[in-house]
Amino acid sequence: MEVYQGKSILKGIAIGKLFFYQKGEQSVKREKIQDTAAELRRYEAAREEAIAQLNVLYEKAVKEVGEVNAAVFEVHAMMLEDDDYVDSIVNIIETQQVNAEFAVATTGDNFAAMFAEMDDDYFKARAVDVKDISERLVNVLSGRNNGGDLGAEPVIVVADDLAPSETVQMDKEKLLAFVTRYGSSNSHTAILARTMNIPALIGVEIQEDWNGKLAVVDGYEGKLYIEPEEEVLTKMQQKQREDLEARELLEQLRGKEDVTLDGKKIRLYANIGSVKDVAGVLANDAAGIGLFRSEFLYLEADDYPDEEAQFQAYKTVAENMAGKKVIVRTLDIGADKQVDYFHMEEEENPAMGYRAIRICLDRPEIFKTQLRALLRASAYGNIAIMYPMIISVDEVRQIKAIVEEIKQELDAKEIRYGEVEQGIMIETPAAVMISDLLAQEVDFFSIGTNDLTQYTLAIDRQNMKLDNIYDAHHPAVLRMIQTTIDNGHQHGCWVGICGELGADMTLTETFLKMGIDELSVSPSFVLPIRKLIRQIRL
Ligand code: PEP
Ligand code: MG
Repeated sequence: MEVYQGKSILKGIAIGKLFFYQKGEQSVKREKIQDTAAELRRYEAAREEAIAQLNVLYEKAVKEVGEVNAAVFEVHAMMLEDDDYVDSIVNIIETQQVNAEFAVATTGDNFAAMFAEMDDDYFKARAVDVKDISERLVNVLSGRNNGGDLGAEPVIVVADDLAPSETVQMDKEKLLAFVTRYGSSNSHTAILARTMNIPALIGVEIQEDWNGKLAVVDGYEGKLYIEPEEEVLTKMQQKQREDLEARELLEQLRGKEDVTLDGKKIRLYANIGSVKDVAGVLANDAAGIGLFRSEFLYLEADDYPDEEAQFQAYKTVAENMAGKKVIVRTLDIGADKQVDYFHMEEEENPAMGYRAIRICLDRPEIFKTQLRALLRASAYGNIAIMYPMIISVDEVRQIKAIVEEIKQELDAKEIRYGEVEQGIMIETPAAVMISDLLAQEVDFFSIGTNDLTQYTLAIDRQNMKLDNIYDAHHPAVLRMIQTTIDNGHQHGCWVGICGELGADMTLTETFLKMGIDELSVSPSFVLPIRKLIRQIRL
């Protein structure tokens, strides 16, 4: 047995085999081959296998996210049959007498470069698709697995690091835990692990030869046991059973009010990143959704999700929540959330860069598509819209003008939409300092403590080395929260917290005393916090 220490992201125990996750991108070596006919057969078999994989993915995606969103897999399968693409690969194998991996990678790069240079957004976007199918083919040829494909059995995923876009594509049914060498506890990958209620360790000295070995992740102690001794295994299985029992006890709180002993009611909502997370919200009996990180719809896709795909997603969430509030945050990409098809330039300082509402106001066609989808979906439930990374009153006014414009367009076409509350995230010190002015423009504030902490303390939330001093309990952060609540209330706004600090149970009483109206937390934290709220007297 070997034991490794890491930093835990979520308390919980996972027992299972380790699976070494390989990044999609990999270098392909050029190798001379003797038997071109055999190499062509090998290529043809791989192509058929890749098409079969895509057909399976298509069927699965149709069930999970609907036909419109699934169409990308169908398109990819068709691209693998494209004559020009196939001819180029065959030609390279035959004329250069090289391995199929090299021929595929070269063709993929050439076609992607050609598409990227075209003066047409549609073709530009195809560059990503052609890279994707080429990568899949190379993976099949070299016997490597494709990113999101975790195999048949549930596994503990091990990786150097995981980007949010990689994490969202993994099959949640197959994920027992994450273990990574890098990463910070405030990154979006860590937040996703909490949302999915999956134990995760970061900062572990991982080793490639662990692949396939039995392991235990102890999210209470931050420990990883490789090939655990019988005694450890028994103890951890016992702990897992206790967790389950504790969970069953919490179940008794389902249907109960979120109210203190002296009668102060609070809205206890949940955070989600995808339509699938709604199941966790309902299972944990949250009173609403306080943060739907809509950018994950973009991260999961290979191309800009169109209005219809987004409308379906928001409508599904609104309908499943059956009249309970669903606060959708508009696109917040940038920093650690990178989407290939946005073709964003590298930045010196992405956390303070071209991101979130800045992109939306700069590229209104993207923003308007999302707003139209949201307004249309609002006819099917209780949707509110929230804007991220606000720093000025002017931004809010620009946004409101765009929303009005879209409402008029919908009116003209006699398309229905509901009464939609509009709010902003308070996650910059600038927003806190002018929260009295901002409150006069919007219906609510939701404090994003993850970013607010990073910008207040000038500590990059992604920087693993600074994880220990990234202190969301810093008095400066707590004063920012109090100021926001006071200014919000003075000018008729309700105020919530949707950052990770909202789930910090050592602060629940403090937040209630500060006058907070709403807390929005990862679904699995709802019932423990309900239990606590019901024991507090203010
Ligand atoms: C936050 O910054 O606190 C927040 C909720 O947004 P995100 O973590 O997605 O940046
Ligand atoms: Mg944020």
